Amino acid sequence: MFGSGLLKGLAITWKEMLTPKVTIQYPDEIYSLPDRFHGRFKLDKDACISCGMCVRACPNNVIKMETETVARKKRLLKYVMDIKYCLFCGFCVESCPKNALGYEKDFELAQYKLDKVPLVLVDEEPLPPEEKERLEAEAAQKIAAAKAKKEASGGKDKGGE
Ligand code: SF4
Ligand code: SF4
Repeated sequence: MFGSGLLKGLAITWKEMLTPKVTIQYPDEIYSLPDRFHGRFKLDKDACISCGMCVRACPNNVIKMETETVARKKRLLKYVMDIKYCLFCGFCVESCPKNALGYEKDFELAQYKLDKVPLVLVDEEPLPPEEKERLEAEAAQKIAAAKAKKEASGGKDKGGE
């Protein structure tokens, strides 16, 4: 019949006009993302032990990390993710033994300038030499005290035998 295609098309248009919309007016409205969404990375600096497992797990060498060792403890100085090479595969997050690395739900990671693309999660200066010396001395004192205590208790045990 002449015009049947037009009528079919109009029927579909009317049907779609009356069904609830699934689209939203981004960016005025933001879709509610699931908890496991892989968005911007976040790092809990206090939980991080600077082990480098995340760096080694990354297939694209996205993560650059710098540390310093003070009084036998590693201190995180820089943690930068060049996310233009990131696959959002999650290997780094899964490999973290302390759950220090995770995701936020923010997916708006585009930048106008290329040098703004890397995510700088930690950027700290090394400790000043005098502070390092103080911490080293404190640690040495603690070790010496523990050693002396151990020797004293060892001597007692031997005397008691
Ligand atoms: S999500 Fe994958 S590609 Fe991106 S930094 Fe982690 S391990 Fe590397
Ligand atoms: S794997 Fe976790 S604890 Fe180790 S350096 Fe990476 S973020 Fe820190």
